[in-house]
Amino acid sequence: ATPMSIISGVGRAAEFGVLVRDADALQRASSLDTLVFDKTGTLTRGKPQVVAIKTANGFTEHQALRFAAALEQGSSHPLAHAILEKAGDEGLPTVQNFRTLRGLGVSGEAEGCNLLLGNQALLSQQQVTVRELEDEMASQAAQGATPVLLAVDGKVAALLAIRDPLREDSVSALQRLHRAGYRLVMLTGDNPTTAKAIAKEAGIDEVIAGVLPDGKADAIARLQREGRRVAMIGDGINDAPALARADVGIAMGGGSDVAIETAAITLMRHSLTGVADALAISKATLRNMK
Ligand code: ADP
Ligand code: MG
Repeated sequence: ATPMSIISGVGRAAEFGVLVRDADALQRASSLDTLVFDKTGTLTRGKPQVVAIKTANGFTEHQALRFAAALEQGSSHPLAHAILEKAGDEGLPTVQNFRTLRGLGVSGEAEGCNLLLGNQALLSQQQVTVRELEDEMASQAAQGATPVLLAVDGKVAALLAIRDPLREDSVSALQRLHRAGYRLVMLTGDNPTTAKAIAKEAGIDEVIAGVLPDGKADAIARLQREGRRVAMIGDGINDAPALARADVGIAMGGGSDVAIETAAITLMRHSLTGVADALAISKATLRNMK
C-alpha cells in the first residue's frame, strides 16, 4: 500500500464531490459490508408535508391545527416545519411551559389547555388513549406517512399525517449499492410501520425504528458486535454520535455542522449518489495498491 496511491484516491474522490478526511478513512471505507442510513433528510427529502388531518372527541380541524402549530413554533424538527406551513402563522395562541421531549414530541399550555404533540409513545407515556384514531393511524403509517398525535387536556384531539417522500435519486443510488453487495439498513426515530413502508419503497434490507436520539450510536455498536463493518450515513445533529461510532461516518452535504465535523467522509452534494461514488473509489484505490 503506497501512500501516494491513497493520496491520489483522496484527490479522485474530491473530483466526485466526496471529501475524505484522511488516508485511513479511505482504507476503512474500502472494506465495509453494511451501510446504515438515517431516514429523515438522508433517504427522504427532509421537507415533510401534512397530507391529512383526522380529528376526534369533538375537535375541529381548525382548532387542532392551531394548537399543533402553536406548539411547533418552539421546535426546529422537520415535522414542526410541515405543521407550521400547513397552519400559516396568523393568530396562533401563545404557549407557556413549552418543552421538547427528544424523540417523542413537544408539550406546553395554551388558552388554558394542556397540550401534547408527538408520537404514540409520547401519548401512552402520558396515559392518553388513542383508540379513537388507532385505525387511521395504522392506515397512514402503512402508506409511509408519519402519524403525529395531538392531545388536549388528556384527550386525543387529532391525527396529523405527515409525508416526507424519498429523494429523487435515493432509489437508484441504493440499487447501485445493493448490486455492489452491501447490506442496507435504515435507522430512524420514526415508528416501525412508517419506516418499513418507506424502506420497502427504497429497497432497504433491514429497519431499525423507534430509536431515541441517544440510541443511534448503540444501534451501530450492536451491528459491529455482530461482526459487521459499518458506515453510518446521516445529516442531523442527532446523527453525530452514530457517525462517530461507525467504522466510517458519512455526512450528507448541507447537513448540520456537527455531522460534518464528526464524519470521516463528507459529501459536497446532498445526494446518495455520492455514497456509491465514495465507496467505489475507495475500493478501486485499495485494489490498485495490492
Ligand atoms: P428522526 O429524525 O429519525 O425522524 P427523531 O428522533 O427526530 O427521529 O423523532 C422521532 C419521532 O418523535 C418522530 O418521528 C415524531 O413521531 C416524534 N417527534 C419528535 N419531535 C417532534 C415534533 N417537534 N413534533 C412532532 N413529533 C415529533
Ligand atoms: Mg435526519
